[in-house]
This record gives sequence, C-alpha cells and structure tokens, in this order.
Amino acid sequence: MKYLVCIKQVPKINKVSIDPITKNLIRDGIKTIINPADVNALTLALKLKSQTGGSIAVLTMGPPQAIDSVKECIAMGADEGYILSGHEFSGADTLATSYSLYKAIEYIGNFDVVLTGDRTLDGDTAQVGSEIAEFLNFNQATFIKDANFKDGYFQVVRKLSDKLEKQNLRGKVLFTVIKDANEPVNIRKKDMEMVDESKIKIIGSKDIGADLEKIGTKGSPTMVLETFSPKEHEKGFFLEGTNEKMVDKLIEILKNEGFAG
Ligand SMILES: Cc1cc2nc3c(=O)[nH]c(=O)nc-3n(C[C@H](O)[C@H](O)[C@H](O)COP(=O)(O)OP(=O)(O)OC[C@H]3O[C@@H](n4cnc5c(N)ncnc54)[C@H](O)[C@@H]3O)c2cc1C
Repeated sequence: MKYLVCIKQVPKINKVSIDPITKNLIRDGIKTIINPADVNALTLALKLKSQTGGSIAVLTMGPPQAIDSVKECIAMGADEGYILSGHEFSGADTLATSYSLYKAIEYIGNFDVVLTGDRTLDGDTAQVGSEIAEFLNFNQATFIKDANFKDGYFQVVRKLSDKLEKQNLRGKVLFTVIKDANEPVNIRKKDMEMVDESKIKIIGSKDIGADLEKIGTKGSPTMVLETFSPKEHEKGFFLEGTNEKMVDKLIEILKNEGFAG
C-alpha cells in the first residue's frame, strides 16, 4: 500500500505571540520542530507499512528550510519526502492549505492511505486533515489512537472525549492521528547523517497544477480580524448538602441575581 503523511514544521514554543498588525503568528527567530501529532502519524504509518508492505512519502507545505523536518522523517523510516514551496502559498488559511496539499498529493502519486496529525501546535484548527479527505473524496476517521490492517480492513481506535471507539474501514482512507498515540521512533545522529537528500524534492504551484485563485491569501476566504486573550471568567462553585438544601440555595442565588421574583 502507498502511504502519505502530511507533516507541518511548527515553532517550538509554549505560548504563541501574534503580530498586532498582520495578526499572523510571529515565527521569526524561533526554533522549529515537526508538529508532535504528525510524528505520531508517521509512527503509525510505519507500523501499518510493516503489516501491509508498501512505501511512505511525507509532504509538507512550507519554506525550503522545512527540509530539516523532512530529513528527520526519512531518518525515522519514511521512503521519500516532498516540500511544497513558493511565496504564492503564503497567507493560506485552512481551506487554501488543504487545497494545496490535496493538489500536491494527487501530483505525487496514487495513495491508498493519507495520514495527518489531528491538530497543530500553532494554527490548532484541526480542520486540515478532514478538508484534505473531502478534496480527495477519501473515507476518513479522525482522532486515531491506533490502527491495524487485518482481513482487508483498517481496524482503528478513535479517542473521543470520554470514550474509545472502534471502527473498521476499507477503500481509500485518511486518518487524523492524535498526539501521544504511540511512542515515536528514536532518531540517532547517525540516522540523520545517512539520509539521502536526493529522496527529497521541492515542488511548486506549477508542478501540481494549482489554481492560483485557490491558494495563498487569494484562495483564503477567512481573515483574522482581531486576536486577543479571552477574559477570565469568575470561578464556578459547587452546592453541597441534601437535594432540598441545594435547591433552596440555588433559588436564593437566582433571586439575588434577579432571575426569580
Ligand atoms: C484565517 C487564517 C489565516 C491564516 N493566515 C496565515 C498567514 O498569513 N501566514 C501563516 O503562516 N499562517 C497563516 N495561517 C495559519 C496557517 O495557514 C495554518 O497553520 C494552516 O492553514 C494549517 O492550519 P492548522 O495549523 O490549524 O492545521 P490543523 O488543521 O490543526 O492541522 C492538522 C494536520 O494537517 C496537516 N497540516 C497542516 N498544515 C500543514 C502544512 N502546511 N503542511 C503539511 N501538513 C499540514 C498536519 O498533519 C497537521 O497535523 C492562517 C490561519 C487561518 C485560520
């Protein structure tokens, strides 16, 4: 089977800083890492490849410096890497990002399984994976914690807010994988040094035949109008005691707040 994993290079930060004028994330001078959930997606792809055979390509849309992240992926076990690059892609919102990645995926090859992280550390919209699946017209399963290939089906475990859910899927599929889904492969310095850079290709909008009206700022229907820290809400409180006592207390509170006569 042919696997493709989408990885994004993100700033290594605990707290994001926003440019007050452009409303974009300030990325200059900040060390970058592969988005953690994407490392888990690649680790899952490696496990599935060990069960089905095949190959793994990784794809990132970003500046040419993203080569460091792609090299890391090859050191982890991916077979080849692609960097979709060009100034015409900048300013993309999630729709333009997903369209660009979809066009690149179709250009690179005929894939059976596409994996993404469920969300990124910086943009954190959790939209791109599902949007790519829609563009590709693939089946999709989100928030994947684990997956195995058995009897012609991908048997996946999804992590929902309060429970796990098992699903069987077949056909062409896209999985969005959660952070901490598995233990990522350890990369040794030696593995990085041995990466064959000829396995990494930089591709652009012309290669993938992208409609220039659908990429970058032009192709982005959303616009960031304002960014601000949310106001701190008053802390809630719990009522205690018997049901009767709690109801009496609640009525008293509502009366004091002007809700009851
Ligand atoms: C309205 C708006 C305007 C924006 N404007 C800008 C801007 O001007 N400049 C700017 O730098 N950013 C901008 N961004 C952020 C940037 O476009 C987003 O980071 C991008 O759309 C991906 O969204 P996300 O990080 O929320 O991805 P999520 O949906 O949280 O990511 C899910 C998964 O999709 C995959 N993925 C996401 N992005 C990529 C990628 N680039 N390459 C490969 N795989 C990927 C990864 O596997 C990732 O784990 C903007 C975002 C929005 C919403």
